[in-house]
Amino acid sequence: MIIFFMVFILTFIANDTLKEKGTIYLIPVGKVNEDLLIYLASQLATQFSDEVKIGKAFPQASYAYNKRRNQYCSDLILRELETLDLEKTKKILGLVDLDLYTPGLNFVFGQASMGGRACLIALPRLRQEFYGLKENRSLFYERALKEAVHELGHSFGLNHCRNRKCVIHFSNCLADTDYKKKEFCKACKKKLLWRR
Ligand SMILES: [Zn+2]
Ligand SMILES: [Zn+2]
Repeated sequence: MIIFFMVFILTFIANDTLKEKGTIYLIPVGKVNEDLLIYLASQLATQFSDEVKIGKAFPQASYAYNKRRNQYCSDLILRELETLDLEKTKKILGLVDLDLYTPGLNFVFGQASMGGRACLIALPRLRQEFYGLKENRSLFYERALKEAVHELGHSFGLNHCRNRKCVIHFSNCLADTDYKKKEFCKACKKKLLWRR
């Protein structure tokens, strides 16, 4: 088992001073591209008006591996993330570069417990290469951001929105993810303000 350590690289402080401050931690589970983490941290700080820090990486989630499916169980990883106790933690977003599933579903792009402390996103299926297509880094980053905002939205207590352009609209496939914006619609933004 390889453990990847990552010091707190960057701290992005958003400028909303009205709300109670807390920190959203991005936790790589195993190896995750550093550029992507930095990109997500800066974008999420803007969207959630919270301090976003990149935390020390978790070890690769070998405990969650299901040999028969050749996938990793997201529930088990989420449970691990929930045990993290970091200073001023508001939310924890795990980033996993492994194909994840939850019992009853073929795969998941991400998972969150409603109003809970932790959520996670799975990266492999957000890449064009996964489908035999040509690599497109900016599209991959954009998809990762949308999934991250979506799952964090759930952990802030937001339900799926019926507006197909809203970031917390349910994505059944990547076309849905690509169609929606990376921001919440007006109504969801309002709800988020109340729940933060
Ligand atoms: Zn959702
Ligand atoms: Zn909405």
